[in-house]
Amino acid sequence: MGVEASKTTSRSRNKTTRSRKARPKVLKSINPRTGEVVGEVPTMDPAEVAEVVEQARKVAPEWASIPPEGRVRLLRRVRYRLNEMIDEIVDVVSQECGKPRFEALGHDVLPPAIVMMELERTAPRILRSKRVGWMSGAVAPKLLSGTKSRIDLRPYGVVGAITPWNYPLTNAFLAFMPALFAGNAVVIKPSEVTPRSGELLRKILDPLPSGVATVIQGGGAVGAAMIEAPVDKIAFIGSGFTGSKILETAAKHLTPAVMELGAKDAAIVLDDADLDIASSGVLWGSFFNAGQTCCSIERVFVDDSIADEFEEMLLEKLARVRHENDPGSEVGSLTFSRQLDIVSRQVADAVDKGAQLVTGGPEAGPLNSKGSLWYAPTILRNVSEDMDVVRDETFGPVIQIVRVRDDDEAVRRANEGANLTVSVWTKSSAHVDAVATRLRAGTVTMNLHGETPAMPWGPWGGVGESGFGRLSGPQGLLEFVYPVHVVKPLGLMRRVWWYPYNEESRATLDSSTRMFTAPTLGKKLEAAKIFGANVGKALSSKF
Ligand code: NAD
Repeated sequence: MGVEASKTTSRSRNKTTRSRKARPKVLKSINPRTGEVVGEVPTMDPAEVAEVVEQARKVAPEWASIPPEGRVRLLRRVRYRLNEMIDEIVDVVSQECGKPRFEALGHDVLPPAIVMMELERTAPRILRSKRVGWMSGAVAPKLLSGTKSRIDLRPYGVVGAITPWNYPLTNAFLAFMPALFAGNAVVIKPSEVTPRSGELLRKILDPLPSGVATVIQGGGAVGAAMIEAPVDKIAFIGSGFTGSKILETAAKHLTPAVMELGAKDAAIVLDDADLDIASSGVLWGSFFNAGQTCCSIERVFVDDSIADEFEEMLLEKLARVRHENDPGSEVGSLTFSRQLDIVSRQVADAVDKGAQLVTGGPEAGPLNSKGSLWYAPTILRNVSEDMDVVRDETFGPVIQIVRVRDDDEAVRRANEGANLTVSVWTKSSAHVDAVATRLRAGTVTMNLHGETPAMPWGPWGGVGESGFGRLSGPQGLLEFVYPVHVVKPLGLMRRVWWYPYNEESRATLDSSTRMFTAPTLGKKLEAAKIFGANVGKALSSKF
């Protein structure tokens, strides 16, 4: 984990007493398993950020002028660079985030590769200009208009990507890669909590032409300076709290934004669930990455009829999960102390207000006594509305199990919280569909949870408090272009609605309107006759 701090070597300490301005800031990278500082990365002065954005703006037109197929060829080098750096990425991400090496590989190297492969395959087709078909839709108004239309998709210019620490590579790739494929230059502000991972990004992007993708390191002030610069489009992944601050500045500059925010995802275990699959899937979906995942399960709604058996299986499996304080474990450490504070506070508040601690909590597990940032996977029962853990995102290894009477109650309660994903656990596909249409979430899954941000063929994003816009799938690519409607007349001719407004042009418009609204064929033909008698004269009127 990293924290912003002043570098205080003896040489710089002497200088800083003379001039506070000269003091270089660094981000410290800290191994949360040991508390040891494992690296330092210089930060950018917020005052320099506007210049970086300006440089990107100069490079952007050239990058945009490369046809999508050409950009694909250049961007493919980034995927090959990932291949060269697999071990280095796993080392750094696992150490800096405190996550198991298995997860660093599976969640921070594999998904960026998959994201790229999908964009390489689909971007040229999605970004192609499209004719608006004559034969599709309402033909008559197009005939009246006498034009042909094309839709071009143009990049915005400079996209500013601001990303969090929980998947320092995957989240960054989700935010900036579609923007690059779409022809934008990008400026990326990764999280100050994981600065060495930010440096990895810089190295991975090195094969691209200079200035097309720039990584700037620093805390919130550096991110804020980028929004203020301003950029032409914002891709933000982070908390709703920061998201709304960013949107205030964005509103001032009228900068469009994609907001991927936090959630309190629900899993619904229906009465016909396969309990072996459901208990294994809910276990993983709740505790992978120590629950520090925007779409990890935080609320489990279980049908009363199978709740005892489900809980028993869940607890039995949880007892077998490996928790060593080393990179080979299955549940890793929390990444920095703020997360431990939030988790500890929410669990204490819940227990104070009457929640039952089924397993876990502050005293559980041998690792807590060592002072590491590890927190035992925790299950709560008997939670109530007045508890923070029910209302607020935890972003840690804590879930609550709530028994429900039937599907209706499960849906109602799931919809009471912000969801990126709701997973439905059942053997019946039809049962999922019956429930899914009533769920408020960006993604609904059957018998799996938490893996969909790494499915770049589908849209990824939220609704309401969990965000807006999409960062994946065709929709994710289209976020980073704006459509330009190019219109040409079929021949060199005047328009019926130009001056002069005479009897013939009025009759042409009147008969068209009647044709387009006529409820019967007879009335349509009557109007068409008047149209035919007038349109030629209207078109040839001189002014
Ligand atoms: P955060 O909001 O604290 O920080 C996110 C980023 O915003 C960081 O890079 C930070 O430096 C920057 N930032 C902070 N203040 C800023 C400001 N005023 N202007 C511009 N930038 C600023 O979030 P976090 O703790 O890094 O990440 C955890 C949150 O992210 C959780 O809520 C989690 O659910 C959410 N998240 C969402 C998704 C998703 O896809 N929806 C994915 C991962 C994480």
